[in-house]
Formats: sequence, structure tokens, C-alpha cells
Amino acid sequence: MALTGLQIYKLLPQTNCKECDFPTCLAFAMKLAAKQVSLDLCPYASDEAKAALGAASVPPIRKVTIGGNDKKLESGEEVVLFRHDKTFYHPTILAMGVSDDLSADDFDSAVKTINEASYDRAGETIAISMIALFDRSNDTGTYTEKAKRIAELSDLPVAIISEDPQRAGEAVKALDDQAGFVYCPNKEKAIAFAEIAKTNKIPIILNADYLDNLAVLAEEIASQGVEDILLDPGFGSQSELLKNHTLIRRMALDKTDKGFGYPSVIRIPDDADPYQVALAASLGIAKYAGIVIFPNWQQWQYLPLLTLRQNIYTDPQKPLQVEGGIYSVGEPDSDSPVYVTTNFSLTYFMLSSEVEASGEPAHLVIVDAEGMSVLTAWSAGKFGGELVGKAVLESGIADKVNHRKVIIPGYVAVIKGEMEDAMPGWDILVGPQEASDVPAFVKDVWLETSESVNAKN
Ligand code: SF4
Repeated sequence: MALTGLQIYKLLPQTNCKECDFPTCLAFAMKLAAKQVSLDLCPYASDEAKAALGAASVPPIRKVTIGGNDKKLESGEEVVLFRHDKTFYHPTILAMGVSDDLSADDFDSAVKTINEASYDRAGETIAISMIALFDRSNDTGTYTEKAKRIAELSDLPVAIISEDPQRAGEAVKALDDQAGFVYCPNKEKAIAFAEIAKTNKIPIILNADYLDNLAVLAEEIASQGVEDILLDPGFGSQSELLKNHTLIRRMALDKTDKGFGYPSVIRIPDDADPYQVALAASLGIAKYAGIVIFPNWQQWQYLPLLTLRQNIYTDPQKPLQVEGGIYSVGEPDSDSPVYVTTNFSLTYFMLSSEVEASGEPAHLVIVDAEGMSVLTAWSAGKFGGELVGKAVLESGIADKVNHRKVIIPGYVAVIKGEMEDAMPGWDILVGPQEASDVPAFVKDVWLETSESVNAKN
């Protein structure tokens, strides 16, 4: 029987040390009772507590580790259906296919392109994190050689996509701890592929036509001693994908059937066109694939998919934020403009990139507004004129510039008066509403103002 929050609380140390990231043991107990966290987060849980909690403390979707080197990935351990209820933990893994029948040059070039697919966005690096090696040569020597070649060129985990268990097993051996998982093409080959997974301690992806068959197959394979399983319910229309992956997530969270308690996978068919690939991958990122396997890809797909993934897998309770303080764009001097904005990452990065595009180096005074964007922070009382004025003065910007002018976002023109009261002797210039209008503002307003001041002097 499931334990209540109070029953769980009585089993915890009750020291409120906060190491689990919850303010009190009671708060942690309530989350445990709701199956939204794992008991592992409390380093002081006694053996008695672990035994008593038992299955109650196990997350409903198993966490599966993929690859064994320092680029290893994790999937699963999700605890909610809707991101805003808590957060999604393990971003969808995008496994980009390379085919073993490519020429040596084309193969190397494809692996290098995947390796280099890495971008900085909003203060984070977003990157492709897995390669899927497709067996299209039907030749063990070729497939194994190509697996070895990937290991020479990349340290990303590698998905083994072959219909032949013997060939798959050889490739796994060649890749050693870089082998990510084996993909089992059908029920008939499940035992043979399960043996590879078990022997090499790597996950297996199971595939079946109907959800019920998939759950039964997963339980059968789990009973063979394979713990790390992922579920591919098959490809279909967008609505079928949405339905299947939502059902798997829902039934896992409800613990309707143990066989559904694993991350799900979308394997896009070989003949999908590039737009279908992008569409299916987008759906998988949003609803609820742990892994999307791409048989083919084009570089234009990377950035939007990685951006989507970054947005979906950001903790909604912890906005991405930068630290408050003064930042430089280019090499500003004592005559350079001073922009003021909030510490929401996206706001900061959009403003800094538009300031850079304006060609006029500048100082940015970033005010700690708990990671909120400008209008949200203003309406929450975190970006009022008095508060912002005080933060600007305390930032020390007055020691860096000769002029006494700051530019505030156009959306909060209303704080200008309060800022002037809080910052006697300073001019508060109302900047554009959108960061994209900063270059025009610099040209039409800032440079004009500076020139007229210089002319008077
Ligand atoms: S880490 Fe354990 S002891 Fe510390 S507050 Fe959390 S539940 Fe309580």
C-alpha cells in the first residue's frame, strides 16, 4: 500500500538539512508520496526507510544510462505528464544516423558534422549527443570497421541499428563503453538481442506493433535479466505518434502496467522526407520521446530542434538566468552607452547580441529580477523604478562612464520618473521595446544625443 506523506516523514531523519533541495524533510516526504522524486536525493535515509518505502520511492519510469564514457547520456526517470507540474528531467536524445555503406570520405564527413553540431544559446551549450550507426551494407566486416572508425573520430555514444544480432554484437564489442544501445527490430529476435544487451550491460530498444504487445515483451525481456529497456511503439502519423507516446507516459506514471515503465523511442523511417523528419522529431521532443533516431538528417534541422529541446527541458520553476552586475559588449569606454535590463537569460542574450550588431560597444547593467523577463519582472514588482535605480547605482557603473545616462527597455517607460528620483543627476533614456530595434536606436537617438552633448562641450 502506498505510504502517505506523514508516514514517509516519520521515516526520514527530520533534520531539515536541505541537501535534497527541499526546505524541509516534510516537503520532501510530500513529494515522495506523490512519486515526484526519488529517495536517493536524501543521503541520510536509513536502511529502514529504504526498505519501508520500497517500490513507493521508485520513479515510475526507469532511468536508463546510455554509453559508459564521460559522454554518457541518461533517459527516463520522468515523473509528470505536464512540464509545468514539476519539470522534465532528461532531454530527448537526438541520435543522428550514419550509414555504414557511405564512402570513407562521406562517412568521416558525416561523423564530423554530427560531432561539431554544438551551439551556445542563452548561456548554455546545446549539442547533438548521439550517433546512430545504420547497417545498410549487410556485411559484418564493414559494419564493425565503421563502428571502429566512429570511435576514432568521436566520443559520442553510438546506437547500434542492425537487424543481425551477430553483426550488432561485433559492433558493440568494437565500440566498448561507447556502445549506447542495441535496437531490436522485432519480437522474434528479442531474445538474441537481449543476450547482447545483458552480456555487454547496455540498454535494448524493443519494438512491437501494439502497445499491449510492447509491454508484454518488455516484461519478458526484463525477466531475462535485462534491466535497461526502451520502448518503440512504431512509427505512424503525427496523431498516432502523439497518442502512443502519451499513452506510454500516462500508463507509466499511473503504474498501470510495469511493462510501460521505460522511456519511449521514435525511430523515423528511412524513407521519411526532411520535413517529416523534423516534424516527427519536434513531436517527440514535446511529447514524450526519450530518444529520437534519425535515419537521415540535414543540418538545417539541428538548431531549431535543439532550441525546442532546450526550451521544453528548462525547469519552469527556475528560469534561465545570468548573474546581476555589469557586462561589457565589445570594448566599451567611458563614453559608451549603458543599457539596463533584467537577468532573464534570453533577455540578456538578445540584448547583448543586438548591441553587438549595432557596432557601438556598451555596458550592460543587469539587474537581478529573479530570472524574469522585463514585463513579467515589472508586473511582479521586481523591476520598479526605485529598485532598478538603486541597483544601477550600487552596480558601480558611475565609476566606468563619464556621462550620466542610462537606457531602459521601452516596455517599462513607466519607471523613468521613479528612476530619476532614485538617481539624481542621471538622465533616463527610454530605449526601444524590442531588442531588435537597438541598432536603429543607437543610430537615431544615442549617437545624436552624444554628438549634441559633445558639440555643447
Ligand atoms: S536531505 Fe534528507 S534529512 Fe535533509 S532535508 Fe532532505 S529529507 Fe531531510
